Amino acid sequence: MQEKHIVIIGGGFAGVNLAKQLGNKEGLKVTLVDRNNYNFFPPLLYQVATGMLDISSISFPFRTLFINSKNLAFRIGELQEIVPNQKKVILSTGDLHYDALVLATGTKSNYFGMENIEKNSLPMKTVNDAIKLRNYLIMEGEKYTYCTNVDEKRKMRNIVISGAGPSGVEIAGMIAEMRNRKLRDIYPELVDESLNIYLVDGAPTVLPPMREKSQKYTLKTLKKMGINVKLNKMVSDFKDDKVFFKDGETIETKTLIWTAGVTAMKFKGIPEACYEKGNRLIVDAFNKVEQMDHIYAIGDTCIQTTDSNFPEGHPQLGAVAQQQGKHLAKNFVAMVKNEEMTPFEYRDKGAMAIIGDQKAVADMTFPKTTLTGWLAWFSWLFVHLFLLVSYRNRFRTFWNWFNAYLGKGQSQGIMIGKTPENAPLSDEIKDEITEV
Ligand SMILES: Cc1cc2nc3c(=O)[nH]c(=O)nc-3n(C[C@H](O)[C@H](O)[C@H](O)COP(=O)(O)OP(=O)(O)OC[C@H]3O[C@@H](n4cnc5c(N)ncnc54)[C@H](O)[C@@H]3O)c2cc1C
Repeated sequence: MQEKHIVIIGGGFAGVNLAKQLGNKEGLKVTLVDRNNYNFFPPLLYQVATGMLDISSISFPFRTLFINSKNLAFRIGELQEIVPNQKKVILSTGDLHYDALVLATGTKSNYFGMENIEKNSLPMKTVNDAIKLRNYLIMEGEKYTYCTNVDEKRKMRNIVISGAGPSGVEIAGMIAEMRNRKLRDIYPELVDESLNIYLVDGAPTVLPPMREKSQKYTLKTLKKMGINVKLNKMVSDFKDDKVFFKDGETIETKTLIWTAGVTAMKFKGIPEACYEKGNRLIVDAFNKVEQMDHIYAIGDTCIQTTDSNFPEGHPQLGAVAQQQGKHLAKNFVAMVKNEEMTPFEYRDKGAMAIIGDQKAVADMTFPKTTLTGWLAWFSWLFVHLFLLVSYRNRFRTFWNWFNAYLGKGQSQGIMIGKTPENAPLSDEIKDEITEV
């Protein structure tokens, strides 16, 4: 029997789960394409950005991941165009022909057309973003210790985080924990200074997709931790060291962290009519892109309204992407065996967000209950540890957390890449760059 070639573009939650399930399956040859040579775990990016975890705790090279699956290949490259009538994709690193193409490209930060925000703010969507943010925060801390200009120092003391979804809440909470506890040990120069953290959102509540009990607990906890939460506040610009809001208010700051929105990407070769709001590709119950033959989409990049429990489409979550990847793998195996494919249905296991040390919320579905406080925090740690892609990641993350919670603090307080003038990179840093 001639092997079918499945090309998967994107090795995030959706793409990697699809590829892994197809490993060593007869009749199928799989090529996974990604612009990075590693898979990474977005829910823990904020811990990399704040120096709690190193990059290799949350990322893993594709080639090592596929080492025991002889039918899985990896190609580094960026998708540039799809040529459906030739069943071909054009990548930045050459062309590939497919029998079935799966788009699993996720989303990118959405700045809603605000150019200054795109240019001047700090997003948190990729490993590079997290490293850039970590370098930036460390460098700002260092600058603060030798800066003598009072006005500049006042602006440096304000940090604005836009977007009160899980990512915004998590990073705001982590910075607040650092400020309230360890920062003054690391920077004794800051002993009499205060760091003002603002968490802002255009919505009327924090964590909009979660239950009311979780939202209320989160808001109360954030305020208790000394975070200024500003809701119903739409950011409209960020320039001249000022964040501007639509209602005319401003906050003077050097730092705007942007977690306020995402959008999927459009690709040349896919007609405009295939996209919905947020550039999500409209797929049928089997994740096939409507109006296209042999092209499928899974994860954040698609919208599927055939699941009766989610008529408006599924939330853009890791769990949905993971389940869609695994499900499509079953359907591809069924296709090869000439068996019937089954429609996708999401098994909602709930949602979680961490706020700070021993403070978290968890909306559970089985049993239907909401956990708050240390029990939710412990569940969050446990669940996220097991969602990591490899045993090596789990062990490294566990070890870093163990050390941090024992009181040694952030272990990763080094700048990678851009360092102050005349400071050569140490071998340790060079190793970390190579590893990524
Ligand atoms: C900071 C943050 C925190 C989050 N926290 C949570 C959480 O706690 N719980 C939860 O359920 N969800 C969380 N999410 C959402 C979750 O990460 C996404 O729903 C999930 O990653 C979607 O998986 P995916 O496979 O569709 O896309 P992704 O995981 O984004 O993977 C897309 C992949 O495609 C690759 N790619 C993109 N474009 C191209 C191209 N043109 N060519 C080649 N490769 C390309 C990318 O490099 C990437 O590897 C979080 C997201 C972020 C950013």
